[in-house]
Amino acid sequence: MRTAVISDIHGNADALTSVLRRIDTLAPDRIICLGDIVGYGAEPGECVRLLRTNGIASIAGNHDLAVAGTLPYHNFSSSARTAVDWTRDALTDEERTFLASLPMTIAEPTALYVHASPDAPDDFRYLFYDEDAADCYDAFAQPICFVGHTHRQILFGRDGSSHPLQRTGKYIMNVGSVGQPRDGDPRACFVLFNEGNFSADVIRVEYDIQSAGRKIIEAGLPVRLAERLSVGI
Ligand code: ZN
Repeated sequence: MRTAVISDIHGNADALTSVLRRIDTLAPDRIICLGDIVGYGAEPGECVRLLRTNGIASIAGNHDLAVAGTLPYHNFSSSARTAVDWTRDALTDEERTFLASLPMTIAEPTALYVHASPDAPDDFRYLFYDEDAADCYDAFAQPICFVGHTHRQILFGRDGSSHPLQRTGKYIMNVGSVGQPRDGDPRACFVLFNEGNFSADVIRVEYDIQSAGRKIIEAGLPVRLAERLSVGI
């Protein structure tokens, strides 16, 4: 089983389209999305449509639930709050109901899929460093847990994080962000997980950043949300 794991699309249909095109060439068995389909970018409806028409299973991110009205977002940054309000108006009732219906995790024998952290999926904790991940390994039984949320691609390992992965190890892998990378590399990011040989390859994809930024500005969303795309922070 080969799974393309994508996350944090954030309404960036330009990035998602380029990523789906690359995934097509890799011909995995399926695609799983770790949430934050919407929020920040100017094409949330198109991103929801692309996920659904491609039959991509998705779990819920905090922005999805804020837009759906089921998660308070007073603690979001000012530009994130503005984007939540804008996105809510841009989606149909049916699309918001779809977002509200997303599960918090997908649990399988080989991997756990969750938006933020495996120890408390509802709390949306940020796992930036090894110390943040250290509390989390006992929270899941599988050898690997895939997360998003920080928009920074990284691999944590209980006994070290070097490749190749060991089936007997315990890992938390952040698959990075499709639509708003924050690890200094502005290219869209995703991971191809191969259960057969227990490998997880990081793939970066160029996309039309100018187009995505222009749509954000034309929509009247905060300009900073467009500017950050070209620097990847
Ligand atoms: Zn996010």
